[in-house]
Amino acid sequence: MALETAFYSCPYCEEVIEITVDLSVGDQEYMEDCQVCAKLTRFGVQVHGDEFILDVHGYND
Ligand SMILES: [Zn+2]
Repeated sequence: MALETAFYSCPYCEEVIEITVDLSVGDQEYMEDCQVCAKLTRFGVQVHGDEFILDVHGYND
């Protein structure tokens, strides 16, 4: 397990939210409701060794 903490700004309510990313899974895409406004949000994680890039989009973007 390689859990990393990341912050993103919700594309809907612009609230800054903390999430945990499991880098041991490798590249991943998933959807989750915003913890604040409950809108469906798409997450994309690209893992590059110990680094990762987090992309966050609204469900319809
Ligand atoms: Zn939100």
